[in-house]
Amino acid sequence: MENVQTVPAQAAEQTTSINAPSLHSAVCPHCQKNDFVVLGTKGAKGAAIGVGMAFGAIGNLVADSMNKDDATIKPLRCQCNACRKKFEILPLKATPEEILETPCTVNFTRLSSFVGMAVAQHVWLNGVKVGTVGNGKSISFPVHTKYNTLFVTDQYGVAFKGNYKFEAVSGGTVDVRFKKKFLQ
Ligand SMILES: [Zn+2]
Repeated sequence: MENVQTVPAQAAEQTTSINAPSLHSAVCPHCQKNDFVVLGTKGAKGAAIGVGMAFGAIGNLVADSMNKDDATIKPLRCQCNACRKKFEILPLKATPEEILETPCTVNFTRLSSFVGMAVAQHVWLNGVKVGTVGNGKSISFPVHTKYNTLFVTDQYGVAFKGNYKFEAVSGGTVDVRFKKKFLQ
């Protein structure tokens, strides 16, 4: 059991080597439990604006996206469900056991809403941004890992309440609907 979260200081420079992010083995540094909610990204204000513009296209591969300069791996602000303490982590690299034989496709739909309709929302898979979705729009992206956490942030990097955790099946499809919260 090596549950200790070790985040190298130069992690931000190693983004291209992390081709399948995972939060599956990340644990709360206070109680070592893997039961937490992502509250948002740290220091996202400003930085997140503009970054999303490059991710408007459908079907960005996570691995491909992460080779781009504007890929974002930011520390995640989290709150433990067990001890309620807040902490920060970076997404980990998925272990080989977590990798699916064939990627699973996620079809993410942001349902129309009149409130805040002009604001782009950012979709994050396992702590890495995979796309930006407008009001009433959908994006599709592959997931390469079995255990996944989705969350959505506003332009300031603040996550909407609730994360969506799901287990992906090799070659499968997952439909996710979102309207200020996950609807499944
Ligand atoms: Zn805890």
